[in-house]
Amino acid sequence: MVNYLLAGAARTQAAAMVQELEAARPGAVARLAQGALAELRTWPELTVLEVDENLTEQGCSVAGAYDFGPPPHLSVATSASRARRDFTALHELGHHLQKNSFALMEPFGREPDGGLLLEDAACDAFAAEILLPAPLVSQHLDAKGPTASAIAQLRQASNASRMAVCVRAVQHLPAPGHILLLDATGHLAFAASHGLPPLRRGSFQGDIAVIDRALAGSGHARGLTQVRYRDGILGRELHTDTAPMNGYLVAVLVTDSAPWRTFTPPTPDT
Ligand SMILES: [Zn+2]
Repeated sequence: MVNYLLAGAARTQAAAMVQELEAARPGAVARLAQGALAELRTWPELTVLEVDENLTEQGCSVAGAYDFGPPPHLSVATSASRARRDFTALHELGHHLQKNSFALMEPFGREPDGGLLLEDAACDAFAAEILLPAPLVSQHLDAKGPTASAIAQLRQASNASRMAVCVRAVQHLPAPGHILLLDATGHLAFAASHGLPPLRRGSFQGDIAVIDRALAGSGHARGLTQVRYRDGILGRELHTDTAPMNGYLVAVLVTDSAPWRTFTPPTPDT
């Protein structure tokens, strides 16, 4: 079995990115937390474009893109809310930082895919690191790991973007799994993965077990399900817990050690 990226590796890379940014531009991290797009528009070396959602690339976990240039520019989808635009802008800034620093590129050489997964997951971790302070996160997500309701409560307490909350939650998973953010039609608005193959943004997951019940009912559901990869291929069975989150559905999926159960044996690895 291939060893997929662990959330901890992305978080370590994100911490190095924050450190490098703060050394080069003192105070930038705090200003980005206040308003990422507003801050980035004051950077002379970077052009920020607002584009239509369907003009963004599929390669990113968010509706945005980074172009190395020259001159380098970030694209952020206009249609989204401000919190989502800021998360997207910080994600794309993450690509900019990693593509312009030999020190930050160094860990990619140790990755089986040349660092593609690490670079993109580190962009998410970098955005979440800036938008969602660790002390607030640990108040809501305990050592056992997150339930879907705890994630929804963290979002309410922080007012950060739903995506930032999902990234923080995946860092607290006790076992391989995913945090999924689904829209009301069952399409994947965002996914953060830990130790399992990542899922594609926009893919339809509305008819898989547990998710179908959650979407049809109150948003709260628990049980076993299999996520859908490309060409309809299903992943291994995962313990799943869902909750409504501000018009969306958040789902926690793990191979074992489900935080909402006293004992969960590992699901078979297929
Ligand atoms: Zn990306």
